[in-house]
This record gives sequence, structure tokens and C-alpha cells, in this order.
Amino acid sequence: MSIPIVPESALATMTVHLDAIIDNYQTLKSKSSTADCAAVVKANAYGLGMTDIAPALYHDGGCEVFFVANLREAVNLRTALPKVTIYVFNGTTEDQVETILEHNIRPVLNDLNQIDIWRGQPAPCAIHFDTGINRLGLSEDEAELFLNDRPDLNVSLVMSHFIQSEIAGHPSNEMQLDRFIRYRYQLPDAKASLCNSGGIYLGEDYHFDLLRPGIMLYGGNPGLPKRPDGLKHVFELYGKILQIRHLRPGMAVGYNSLWTAAEEARIALVNVGYADGTFKTSDKCAKVFVGGHVANVIGKVSMDMIAIDITDDKFSHITVKDDVELLGANITLEMAAEVSTLGQYELLTGIGQRYNKKYIRGA
Ligand SMILES: *Cc1c(COP(=O)(O)O)cnc(C)c1O
Repeated sequence: MSIPIVPESALATMTVHLDAIIDNYQTLKSKSSTADCAAVVKANAYGLGMTDIAPALYHDGGCEVFFVANLREAVNLRTALPKVTIYVFNGTTEDQVETILEHNIRPVLNDLNQIDIWRGQPAPCAIHFDTGINRLGLSEDEAELFLNDRPDLNVSLVMSHFIQSEIAGHPSNEMQLDRFIRYRYQLPDAKASLCNSGGIYLGEDYHFDLLRPGIMLYGGNPGLPKRPDGLKHVFELYGKILQIRHLRPGMAVGYNSLWTAAEEARIALVNVGYADGTFKTSDKCAKVFVGGHVANVIGKVSMDMIAIDITDDKFSHITVKDDVELLGANITLEMAAEVSTLGQYELLTGIGQRYNKKYIRGA
């Protein structure tokens, strides 16, 4: 079924710069002289669109290994990219084996039960050792049983995941590295992978054979104290102004009258709300960028709109024709996270599905 086109003026827009994502991939890859670089494209490439971004990373970036969270994501990616290596973090259950094999997906086996299910398969798999995060992965006891038992498996990758790799001085990083090295040397034929985005900046000792960045491909900072050199912003969200209104002193805006005009005021209603993900009612002082200046979001965020204050003279030229930047080069993820209860990961993956999406190559 083809979807009828509507005029662009009806929709807020998400513009994704594929070249900037590829540049970030190359920047991350260049941090290691030994390791290859994969791409983590789970959660629809952190909300930005897996089936557009992963092919660009493969064809123009040379990325050949991808990680997703679940089998639905893996099968969707396989449809877009028939040749690449796809690992699925959540591993497998009995009933997923057939689909995994049919689509040539590699499960990341996270416990002895998953290992039992996969035992005897000639198709490759990864083994995830938990080195301290106590989430997925073989616990210390399970790892010992596994390494003594040596079940018949074709292990192509051993991996582990950091607790807080973005905090370079934290002792947990070295502790996890030591544990990982011990496991890694008992399976010397498999490739080894430890680093998410933050881990890459811990240095070569941590890199092993394969890097697994996610958020930094998409221009986000995992929490490093300084935004790394060369990391590019890769997308913009633009809302449309639906209406401009003049308020007399004492008039209040939106549900529950949370903002009241102290003086004569001019406000604009913009066509994005909490259903579009980037704003939360609890957020104080969320900002947008319009007509060359930062403006404040005022009142309660509605499902389909926000109000912004454009009273100041510097906004006098603004009309309903102006686009309003919600996130992008002027309202960065860093800035948005600062005034939000949400972090950069949550802001990114929370971007709603209602935007008109445009994928751009070239500057
Ligand atoms: C999400 C995830 C990554 C990527 O992490 P970023 O911090 O986004 O780079 C890597 N490895 C595992 C196991 C993950 O779950």
C-alpha cells in the first residue's frame, strides 16, 4: 500500500545527515590502530532510522558488523543488508533458533541456558561474559562452568559491557578489563569486543578486535567530560509555527495555566508536543532556536504542540513561515539534556515517529 503524500508544511521535520554519521564512524574507528569498528543500530538506530543509516554505514563507511537488541530488529536489518554480520544482543530462546538461522543472524549467548539451546550449531555465535554490570552475560560461576565444559560451539566473538566507561578514572574500568582479559585468553580463536562509545576513549588497552559504538555515531556524548574533537552533530528536528498570538498581561497559556504573561506578550504555537518525544511537561526552561535566537518553551507541553515566548524585540521579524529548531546544531543534545530530566540517550531514542524524515548525503 502506498502512503498518500501530504504537503511538507503539515509536518515537523527530522533531517539526518548520513555523511556526518559516516564521519563519526571514521573518527571512532581511527581511535584504534588494532580494532575494527562495528555499529550499534538497536532501537531503530537510536531513533534516527536503522534501515537508512545502516546501509549508508555499510556502502559508504565500510562497516560490516552490526549489533541490534532483538530479533525483530535483526531481521529488519537483514532485509536491508543481505551480506553483513548481524549480532543480536538478547541472544536466543528455543523458538527463535529457526528464524535466527534462516536469516543468518548471530546470537549473543548470555547464560548457560542460551548456550544449551545453541550447543552443537555449526553457525557462529558470540559469548557474553558479565564482568561486573550484572545485567546480561555469563556470571563468574557460569563462566567457570562454561570454560570447563567447553560445549561444542562455533564462537566468533567474545564480548563484555562496561558499567561506566565514560568516567575514565573509575576503578571499575580496569577491574572489568582484567576480568575480560582472563576470559578472552581462554577463547583465543574468537575475536574480542569490549568497547562501547565511552570505552573507545579509555585507550588502546581496551580496544581488542572490535569496537561497538552506538551513541557517538549519532553525535551524542555518552558523558565524557568534554565533547570529543571531530564528533559531528548528525540531525536536526524542526517544528512548524501553527499560529502566533498576542497576550495581554495576566493571560495564561495552556493546560492548567502554568505560565502567565506578566506584560504584553507574543507567543508562537509550534506543531510538536510530548507525543513527538523531545519535550516533557516536567522539564523546566526547555529551549528552541528560531529566527537566529534561542527562545523559551512556556507553559505545559501538550500532546501535539508547545508554546514559545517570542515577545522580545529580537523576535519581531518572526512569522508563521519560520521553522523552529527543536534539536540540532543550535539546540544540541547536550543543551537539551541540561534542562531536561532525560539524558542524551533517552532524548535520542525518544524522538517520536511523527516527523517527516529526510536523509541527506553530501554537505
Ligand atoms: C547499547 C550497547 C552498546 C553501545 O553503547 P553506546 O554507549 O551507545 O556506545 C554497546 N554494547 C552493548 C552491549 C550495548 O547494549
